[in-house]
Amino acid sequence: MKKQLEILIQMQKLDTIIGEKNILTKKLPQQLNSLKQSLKDADETVAATKSDFDENLKDQKLKELDIADNNTKIAKYKNQLLTIETNKEYKALNSEINHLEKNNSEIDDELIRLMEAEAELKERLKEEKKAQLKASEDLKANEEKLEKEIQEVQKDIKDLKSKRNVLAKDLPRELIRRYATLIKNKNRKAVVFNDNNACSGCGYSIRPQVVIDIKEGNSVIYCESCGRILVIQL
Ligand SMILES: [Zn+2]
Repeated sequence: MKKQLEILIQMQKLDTIIGEKNILTKKLPQQLNSLKQSLKDADETVAATKSDFDENLKDQKLKELDIADNNTKIAKYKNQLLTIETNKEYKALNSEINHLEKNNSEIDDELIRLMEAEAELKERLKEEKKAQLKASEDLKANEEKLEKEIQEVQKDIKDLKSKRNVLAKDLPRELIRRYATLIKNKNRKAVVFNDNNACSGCGYSIRPQVVIDIKEGNSVIYCESCGRILVIQL
């Protein structure tokens, strides 16, 4: 019986490590995904700002064309002014020239606003490209390492499980089944210890007679509250 308890303790130790490694098998891929996501976000941010920047330059070109167009018209009308005969025609043409000049001055204001925005976008793009480069370097530096760690953890778990299964071969079937159910349902803690006369798994007080039984170690003792296997120490 003492041998069985010793085996159960060894199995629990392995299952505790398996539990820790199981957490890593979730955490490591999350870390890797988070690095990939950061780079994807940075790429998208840069692309969006670049598109705003290109749009801005396109707008500026269009506005410059509008101004040139207006200037051509103004020059033409000013020439016509020289050959005009009636006062009415002169006034109409002059008013058209004024209108075009006012329009040009408005477009000029818009151009200034666009150029200011262009400078801001340029600066923003510079910062965003820096962040993009950093995200890319972070991923490059860690991707291979994390993938290797993930593989190692998976291999470790496989090895630990096979070690545990070898140990289990010396236990009665019923006890293995009970142990496995406890591991599955009781937070991976099947074997717990007497912690100041309380179950270290659930905190339930252990009766004095049971304390003695655990110490003697002549049978497998289960916690009267949580059903876990109680031993003197792990
Ligand atoms: Zn308990």
